Amino acid sequence: MASYKSVVMPRKKDLHDGISLWHDSGAHISTRKLKKNISAEIVVVGAGISGALSALELSAAGHDVVVIDRRAPSTGSTLASTAMIQFELDTPLTVLQKKIGPARANRAYKRSAKAVRDLSKLLETHDISAQWRNREALYLAGGEMGYRGLQKEAEARQKLKLPSEYLSHAELLAEYNINRTGAILSGGSAELNPVATASGCLKAAQTLGARIFSPCEALSATSTHPGVQLETSSGFTISASRVVFATGYEVMAGIPKDQFEVISSWAIATQSLADADFWPGRCLIWEASEPYLYARTTPDNRILVGGGDQRLTDPHKREQAIPRKSAALLKQIKSMLSKNHLQAEFQWGGAFANSPAGLPVFRQLPSIPGSMAILGCGGNGITCSMIAAQVVTKWARGRSDPDLDLFLGT
Ligand SMILES: Cc1cc2nc3c(=O)[nH]c(=O)nc-3n(C[C@H](O)[C@H](O)[C@H](O)COP(=O)(O)OP(=O)(O)OC[C@H]3O[C@@H](n4cnc5c(N)ncnc54)[C@H](O)[C@@H]3O)c2cc1C
Repeated sequence: MASYKSVVMPRKKDLHDGISLWHDSGAHISTRKLKKNISAEIVVVGAGISGALSALELSAAGHDVVVIDRRAPSTGSTLASTAMIQFELDTPLTVLQKKIGPARANRAYKRSAKAVRDLSKLLETHDISAQWRNREALYLAGGEMGYRGLQKEAEARQKLKLPSEYLSHAELLAEYNINRTGAILSGGSAELNPVATASGCLKAAQTLGARIFSPCEALSATSTHPGVQLETSSGFTISASRVVFATGYEVMAGIPKDQFEVISSWAIATQSLADADFWPGRCLIWEASEPYLYARTTPDNRILVGGGDQRLTDPHKREQAIPRKSAALLKQIKSMLSKNHLQAEFQWGGAFANSPAGLPVFRQLPSIPGSMAILGCGGNGITCSMIAAQVVTKWARGRSDPDLDLFLGT
């Protein structure tokens, strides 16, 4: 008898605490209960933004897809996201060129920029109401990179035709009233509502035939050569030719531990503000610091502010830190924008993952040949989710994505 290899699924964790701005913005999705053993061509474990985009791309490519989630769809880390959609990785291009070589770094940045454009097109094609707004992004000089570094960074990006313009201290002050030694203003970014986006993608996938089961927890996955069988909490099994593990920061065993670190991050949303309170173009703002502060605006005129990242994995401590972290974020944004009347109406914290080069990790698990595990890392995790969806759709057709080598880990 053949000996089949199994993996035990990662245990459930508290992924976020406090009240996220998006806590009630999910579109209603009618999910099913698993009441018998079923089979599908591809099963996607996880109905956050990564699983939702993968399910939609796979369904649109004509595959028979089942999605399962142990939570309600879009209520994992996706609910905690501040959803700035950027091609810029946490690792600047010039730094990444040194880390992984210029050719590979250039390819990673170009692929990331393409993913933002493709995400926009995908949402438009399926008429998904994601509250998408095209935005510029303002990257401020900070402790990790001063104005000279930013000048070089802007030049490196321009060589790749990534729209990036260096702003001097005087220009930054005159146009944005922000007092830093310099900045890069880049095009090709956006903001969206992550919960509405994931829910919209799942609904669109459903329309194309995908079946969504929730709550339905995968307890273990067993390779059945050439397929896979999932044992679920309902007592029934799901058999498939392939499995996509989109389990977010409940990271699959088999993704090497030196390729990511799960930490904590915090965010606040201010009260609704008057138009006069906003900066030109309502661009995304972030900074070359560690940890960095970042901000965006929302359609209901709030400022969303995030940062304060810390190596902390205990959810209880992360929750306890919310008042302190929120107060710090509020103080920093008030000072940056010279707006003293800002208040934090929503405050939350969540698990977050970094990787050595700021790149996502996509891996076939050694014990399950028919698997692909995807893990978005860094501040542009949703852009990574889009790349993952494209990679798994090629893989499902038996083809390899030309950029997959970038995402296998350093
Ligand atoms: C505070 C904060 C701010 C952020 N800001 C940004 C930002 O501005 N821009 C950006 O691009 N990214 C940002 N991110 C990162 C981004 O939100 C994440 O990369 C993204 O949401 C991850 O989505 P996911 O689908 O991979 O994970 P999740 O949304 O967590 O989905 C994974 C799903 O898998 C399910 N699952 C796990 N195990 C099992 C199992 N055994 N059986 C069944 N289901 C299972 C879980 O229940 C969960 O619903 C931020 C994150 C945080 C926390």
